[in-house]
Amino acid sequence: MNLHDYLKYKKRVVVKIGSSSLQHADNGELDLIKLEKLVRELCDLRNRGMDVCLVSSGAIAVGRRAIGLTERPSEVSTKQACAAVGQARLMMIYQRLFSEYSQVASQILMTKYTMVNETTRENARNCFEELFRLGIIPIVNENDTISTYEMHFGDNDTLSAIVTSLTNADLLILLSDIDGLYTDDPRSNPDAVLIERIDRLDEHYMEMAKDTTGSDVGTGGMAAKLTAARISVHSGADMIIANGKDVGILHEIIEGEFKGTFFKGQKNVDFDLNQYIKTGF
Ligand code: GLU
Repeated sequence: MNLHDYLKYKKRVVVKIGSSSLQHADNGELDLIKLEKLVRELCDLRNRGMDVCLVSSGAIAVGRRAIGLTERPSEVSTKQACAAVGQARLMMIYQRLFSEYSQVASQILMTKYTMVNETTRENARNCFEELFRLGIIPIVNENDTISTYEMHFGDNDTLSAIVTSLTNADLLILLSDIDGLYTDDPRSNPDAVLIERIDRLDEHYMEMAKDTTGSDVGTGGMAAKLTAARISVHSGADMIIANGKDVGILHEIIEGEFKGTFFKGQKNVDFDLNQYIKTGF
């Protein structure tokens, strides 16, 4: 895909990475070499002059390993306990890695209530703005320690698109465990073809989403990615789904040469983020 001289002029970029991309597939332990490379890539985006925000999953997965649970927890209180342990561990690692490249990282934890309530929504927006002004990298996650079903965004794909919209970012990159949006599920259909570019996100594409993810650690399937695309595109931000297997894809994206699906942002003046949070599409 060739988007030369386009993506490198982006001013504010949100990058989302899922739990499965941060772990070794065989045993679920954190892939520290990959995390380090991810941080280096993000610091380089800062060095190019962009505002950078990372939406990182992994709190529950990291906490689960730390506590010694062999299976993904299903009880809400167990997930909350895992997140309380894991989020702190994850941030400790991010802080250390970002400081090695002389960047300052920060943490913003949100729930749906943060967005529903006007005061907390504005507080969050102001905090993001101030962090960007100070050159600090916000690392965002759902506040899983206190979050329950009714106040859940549900998945970090949606959360990252909401952050993109809230902060008026002009690009969202979803690093996934798949190359992008395919015409069919490539795991079961060898004839499935990668869709490289979507200039108009209509119902035809929305129906292509299959609610599967292939991993047992994340929650965002293709349906969640297309919901994220709708929020981003309607907010006027471009969105890219790319494979996070090699996080070096981040500089390939900015240089305009990458494998993935590019969704062109088309600001819709009728799209109201606050209304979406309350009622959905
Ligand atoms: N917020 C969850 C976590 O950090 C992950 C949600 C997701 O992967 O979509 O563990």
